[in-house]
Amino acid sequence: MDKLQNLQPWQQVQGIYVHIPFCRQKCLYCDFNSYAGFGAEAMAKYAAAVCREIAGRRKDVLLNANASIYFGGGTPSLLPAEAIKEITDALKKYGWWQNPCEASIEANPGTVDLPKLIALRQSGFDRISFGVQSLNDAELKAIGRVHNAAQALEAIELAKQAGFKRINADVIYGLPGQTMASLKETLTRLCCTGIEHLSVYGLIVEDGTPLQKMTEAGKIILPDEDEAADMYEFVQEFLKTQGFERYEISNYARGKAYSRHNLVYWHYYPYAAFGAGACGFSGSARFTAAAKVQNYIQLIQSGGQLYDKEELPVPVQFEEFMFMNLRKQSGVSLTEAKQRFGIDVMEKYGAEMKPYIEHNLLSFDKERQKICLTEAGMEVGNRIFEIFVTD
Ligand code: SF4
Repeated sequence: MDKLQNLQPWQQVQGIYVHIPFCRQKCLYCDFNSYAGFGAEAMAKYAAAVCREIAGRRKDVLLNANASIYFGGGTPSLLPAEAIKEITDALKKYGWWQNPCEASIEANPGTVDLPKLIALRQSGFDRISFGVQSLNDAELKAIGRVHNAAQALEAIELAKQAGFKRINADVIYGLPGQTMASLKETLTRLCCTGIEHLSVYGLIVEDGTPLQKMTEAGKIILPDEDEAADMYEFVQEFLKTQGFERYEISNYARGKAYSRHNLVYWHYYPYAAFGAGACGFSGSARFTAAAKVQNYIQLIQSGGQLYDKEELPVPVQFEEFMFMNLRKQSGVSLTEAKQRFGIDVMEKYGAEMKPYIEHNLLSFDKERQKICLTEAGMEVGNRIFEIFVTD
């Protein structure tokens, strides 16, 4: 116990991620490790494999008893409630789920009803994150989402009825056919539900996705750069008026209801991961599991090597630490940078940061030993991040 108390937060696993790679249908823009077309039997086999992975994993890095839990996907809510419970029970039995500071699950509207949401609460989840994306049916259809706006609003209401007090909605701007008016309507209606967290992303056309092919072929027309930039600005201004604090580049919370699990990533703390394609981080190495469902199950059954390990040289760790921490409104702690990597950030990068500080894109708080992106700086974050890139 004493040993654990003396550890720094970056020396312990602070979060547990479980990947559920099933979706009802692939959205046109999606390049996540997720698959459509799996039935109940295959999902049960997958859940059993995840439980076996949990049972067999050695805890080679110390685990914080309050480590957050996050079931992401894919669409975790597609798994039957019993299968989800099997996995949560295994996490509890083998000591991964102790006294989590937060237990979140991602869900898609149209895949949950009240009994299921109640079952999720009973399994121990206290936060739910809905992939809403838009409350305009035409926009949802244009990107291949299977739900509609009414289902999204209903899912949020049912989650409240089931006792979820912490609810997130993901929203995308820059959608085909989206206008400022429809974006405003989406955000207004979501804010009216009383939820306390929103993740708002610009649509990215990823290589190899159907969206890329369709935009190239002129079958889908996206808002142009100026329109997307106006939407971005609108999101910032509008959410401010609704009492949301932008605590990370794409994340907004009321009443400091931050996503504690995502803060583990942004702090660049270690996390453990389970499931197909899941990616864990020990603090100095990244581990990525076999991505394909069948492959994953076979490797679990045969005891073959499930994870690819990538050792991260210290300069790469430092670079990633800076990127991730600068995403937060609270910025990067220079004291922590020194303790973790032995680097005096101001001494090493002060000259390169100076113009950004002078142009109010970066701020330096000498007393608290913090550097942060300003609101204007968040818009050009990538340029600023380059300062810390190692060759
Ligand atoms: S629901 Fe999410 S993970 Fe599934 S296909 Fe759509 S974007 Fe991808």
